[in-house]
Amino acid sequence: MVDLGAYDESRPLDMHDLQFDLAAEKLGLEPWIAEKIKRPRRELTVRFPLRFDDGRIQLMEGHRVQHNTLRGPGKGGIRYHPRVDLDEVRALAGWMTWKCAVVDIPFGGAKGGVACDPTTMSAAERERLTRRYIWEISPLIGPEQDIPAPDVNTGPETMGWIVDTYSVFKGYTCNSVVTGKPLCIGGSLGRLKATSRGCIYVLEEAARHLGLELAGCRAVVQGFGNVGYHAAELLHEAGVKVVGLSNVQGALYNPAGIAPRAAKQHELSTGDLPSYAEAERLTNQELLELPCEVLIPAALEGQITRANAGRIKARIIVEGANGPTSPPADDILKDKGIFVVPDILANAGGVTVSYFEWVQNLQKLFWTEDDVNRRLREILTRAFAEVMAIAQRERTTMRTAAYMLAIERVAEAKRVRGIFP
Ligand code: NAD
Repeated sequence: MVDLGAYDESRPLDMHDLQFDLAAEKLGLEPWIAEKIKRPRRELTVRFPLRFDDGRIQLMEGHRVQHNTLRGPGKGGIRYHPRVDLDEVRALAGWMTWKCAVVDIPFGGAKGGVACDPTTMSAAERERLTRRYIWEISPLIGPEQDIPAPDVNTGPETMGWIVDTYSVFKGYTCNSVVTGKPLCIGGSLGRLKATSRGCIYVLEEAARHLGLELAGCRAVVQGFGNVGYHAAELLHEAGVKVVGLSNVQGALYNPAGIAPRAAKQHELSTGDLPSYAEAERLTNQELLELPCEVLIPAALEGQITRANAGRIKARIIVEGANGPTSPPADDILKDKGIFVVPDILANAGGVTVSYFEWVQNLQKLFWTEDDVNRRLREILTRAFAEVMAIAQRERTTMRTAAYMLAIERVAEAKRVRGIFP
């Protein structure tokens, strides 16, 4: 059994491995299969010089990890952040494998990232970085091989550059190489808000399970980017009072509620979210401990740890971010009776609509936004029910149940595919 007392919460890969071990042990998996599917299949580290606008040249380091491709091509976003390293990308790639398997879409898991601070870079510098990084990892990616998407500090603009770079090298337009693209080059309606919409769908299921009426509840959202902003906006539209918000600069609190769109406009026009006048200023740590019914961490890993889990007051946590809660914190939250919808289920809406985007690209046939949202709800509601059934049967948390479902699906793919040669 794993010793949680000595466990280091600052390493996402340790978190991934421990979450895997807890579920694999319960499944009684064949040891060789457990070992095979826990670790990444392929890893590529690339180093290349980047010319900055002022003439300076700096050596950059990036990675692409294909954690697993047993159920289909690798799938996973690209992150630009100073903290990116091979171990973080390995963890994020593993989480993609389990996420795709939990919602039962035909992808494996992959992830990429470059260690850089894009917030201090010009658009031209970010474009050069993207094109060169994609060229460097081009032996691994492709519509049937490994399909990148947005993650922290990347978005539709980055995906447009990737389509162009990959297409130039192929000699024809190949838009199915990434998802999360702008609509005019084959993006899908509904993709931009898909991760957040998925968070709301699973939140509705969790609230129904707990007998909680969402309208009138208070919500706190950490992170105000693609996932956090749209989640806050969708909660606000659903009549949930968004009392707390934050970005990397700091947090805002107003028990009477904050209008997310107005706060976003302030952030965009001033570049300083915490100076928004309609709310009190807090730190990100204080934000997580606010009184509320719903907490959506939608920033980075390692936010809820053994240091603060005991002070969390929410009734439901929906993990918009990947890896926001450490295993020791999970135990504390469980003892407090806080219902956690784990990342690999809670934020799977993004990859699910990425799957829809890929299908539309391959078929050259596009769906309406209503179609996308209806199919998304169907998939997430089914996955939530399957995870809940395992959690109840095994008397375990939603996280371990989600891992059990996902790991068994990947393990079964290995069993039926067998070993080459
Ligand atoms: P983003 O770059 O659009 O936004 C990140 C937000 O978090 C920004 O508001 C940033 O200021 C804030 N932030 C960064 N560091 C912070 C800190 N230490 N404390 C508080 N806030 C901080 O990124 P995103 O795409 O919204 O991704 C957020 C999380 O959701 C990540 O964990 C990502 O892996 C996960 N995720 C994203 C998607 C997607 O479709 N974009 C899908 C699934 C999961």
